[in-house]
Amino acid sequence: MYLNIDVSEYWCPNEGCSDYGKRGKGNVVLKEEYGKKEQRLFKCKTCGHCFSETRGTIFFNLVTPKEEVLRTLAMIPEKGSIRGTARATGHDKSAICRWLKIAGEHSKEVTEYFLNDLQLTRVQVDEIWSYIKKRRRT
Ligand SMILES: [Zn+2]
Repeated sequence: MYLNIDVSEYWCPNEGCSDYGKRGKGNVVLKEEYGKKEQRLFKCKTCGHCFSETRGTIFFNLVTPKEEVLRTLAMIPEKGSIRGTARATGHDKSAICRWLKIAGEHSKEVTEYFLNDLQLTRVQVDEIWSYIKKRRRT
């Protein structure tokens, strides 16, 4: 068992739920572990919705809406720097760094968001990742 899991870090990803996006409400419980990557399955007691770890946690603890986070990240290669992006969007530099880190840890899912939600092209998405990778090395 994953005794070190803090379920208060997770929130219900069901937008129709009255506890949607709220953390530490006690509505999220660990249901089971599954899969090769040891993703965990959670259940929201408020609405009965089940969700896997990546879906619920990708942008957990973020006050900023997902779309805004993604749009900001997508802007980084164009602006050429975190600082420039922070200036253009009004977001805090440290917040953008944190989003980048989260995105890097969930690159597959974030790529899907970029392609489907933001309707970016593959080329644009590749540019974003190559910027993130380059930044990591330095
Ligand atoms: Zn719920």
